[in-house]
Amino acid sequence: MEVRMIRCAKCDNDTRASELVTAQGPVMLAGPQGTAPQPVLAQACTACGYIELYGPQPLVEPQDRVAAAAEPEPLELIPAPTPQAAAELA
Ligand SMILES: [Zn+2]
Repeated sequence: MEVRMIRCAKCDNDTRASELVTAQGPVMLAGPQGTAPQPVLAQACTACGYIELYGPQPLVEPQDRVAAAAEPEPLELIPAPTPQAAAELA
């Protein structure tokens, strides 16, 4: 499969992928319901500086993210209160 190069829309030069970075971190684009925000991708022309912005590519299917988020906590890590401890709390 051929690698897709993104060309500048104005001067047809090469672009490079980067992020829009602030002091607080990258600029994020909120995803659909149940998905985490992901960084906005900027394709900046190396010749004229023209920038195109791209939203997150669907590298992770939203269904998978929802399933991972809905995964129950491992209950075995929470110690069950013993009758003695319950008596001390009472
Ligand atoms: Zn350009």
